[in-house]
Order: sequence, then structure tokens, then C-alpha cells
Amino acid sequence: MKGTPIKSQSRHPKIRAFRTEENLAKWLKTEYDDKGRFCADIAEEIGCSAPHVWTFLKKFRIPIKTASEAHKGKHLSPEAKQKLREARKGKHHSPETKRKIGEAKKGKHLSPGHKRKIGEAKKGKHISEKHKQKLREANSGENNPNWKDGKSNEPYPLEWNERLKEQIRDRDDRLCQMPGCYLSENGKKHTVHHIDYDKKNIDLFNLITLCHSHNLKVNSNRAYWTEFFQELQTMRRLNYKTCSLSETIIV
Ligand SMILES: [Zn+2]
Repeated sequence: MKGTPIKSQSRHPKIRAFRTEENLAKWLKTEYDDKGRFCADIAEEIGCSAPHVWTFLKKFRIPIKTASEAHKGKHLSPEAKQKLREARKGKHHSPETKRKIGEAKKGKHLSPGHKRKIGEAKKGKHISEKHKQKLREANSGENNPNWKDGKSNEPYPLEWNERLKEQIRDRDDRLCQMPGCYLSENGKKHTVHHIDYDKKNIDLFNLITLCHSHNLKVNSNRAYWTEFFQELQTMRRLNYKTCSLSETIIV
């Protein structure tokens, strides 16, 4: 047999049936890349999970699509559109969300020169630890406007609030970012997940939108999912240096 044989212990008979990794890679490239199918769709056909397909894509160096790329040029069927309309019935964006969407769109028209200037102005401006501590103290407990019966004493830093979560959801097109899922919100807001499981790390790189079932799924196997999403963020060209909201929204 020519090529690298697929591990005989693979749990999935349909994957084993490809016999060689080269055969599987070729088929995956056609289905995912040329035909534009989703990981979840392919996973169902070969009887494994979407992340498993994702792992193969990575292994075979087939470029992974982001949610917005995957949806580009895709049209919803009339039935799917009707379903979405029904789900959205009576649901309106809050004035706050509307304002944020407006602001996010505004950011899209910044010229590269303007962006560079903003970047330069921000450079070197960091809040000192001492100042941060002062801010925390000033807003902790009863001093915090969100304080409700002591319930706001959660281990989240001051900035971790609904406003930030909404910004992340908007940045992620309000779609679950698990490759192959890309589920849109259906009456219930998606979760914003901390990639490194550190609730204090609210760097935009560390935050990603997930549907509720995928948020549950990533609760186990943490080391794996941390690496998985960090790599995904890197592919989305999000990184610690350029992760300002106006730029990430463009992704
Ligand atoms: Zn999902």
C-alpha cells in the first residue's frame, strides 16, 4: 500500500476505510475546501466529532475557515430563513446593543493612517497595578453600581461585564465560533468563554463566543481546548498586540 496507513486503532470505521492518510487528506480537501462544507457536516458523514475533523484539517495543512469566511456566499434556504424570522419575532436589540453595533460599524471606516495614530497614542499608556487596585477597591462591594445582595462579589475583574460580553459576541458575528458549528443565537445569548479558563484574563484574545452546548463541552479536556482556541484565534489574526475592538470586528 502506498502512503501512510491510517492508524488501525481508529474508532471510526469510515475513517479507517480511507486506508491511507493521503486518501483522507485528498477527500477532506475536496469536501471542506472545494465544496465548502462545514466540519460538522463532514463529521456526521464519517461518524466522528467536528473537532476531530478540525484536527485532521490541521494535520493535513488544509486552511481552516473562520465563521465569517464559512458563511460568505452561503444563502439560507427559505425554510431556514422562516425559522430565523420566527425565532427573532418580538425580539429587538436593546438601545445599548444598537449603539454598540453603530459604533462597531463606525470603526470599519477608520483609515489605516487614523488607526495607526490611535495605536501610537495608546502605546506606552498602561494603567499601573497600583491604579488598578485603587479602581477595584473604589468599585468593589457596595460601591459597585451593580452590587446586588453581595452577588457581585464574583471573581471577575471590574471590566468583565455584560457590555464587554456583548462586544465579544458582536465581534464574533453572534455565531458560535466552534469550527463547524457556527450556530447563530436563537432567542438565547451565546456564552463568552475564557480560553485559558482564567476569569481574570479578559484580554480580547482570551475571549470567544460559544453556544451553550459547546461551552459545556469545553469544560473537560481543558489543556486541549486552550491550545485549540488559542490557535484558532491566531488564525483569525487576533493577537495580543492588535486586539483592539475596531480591528477585531473586521476579522
Ligand atoms: Zn456551538
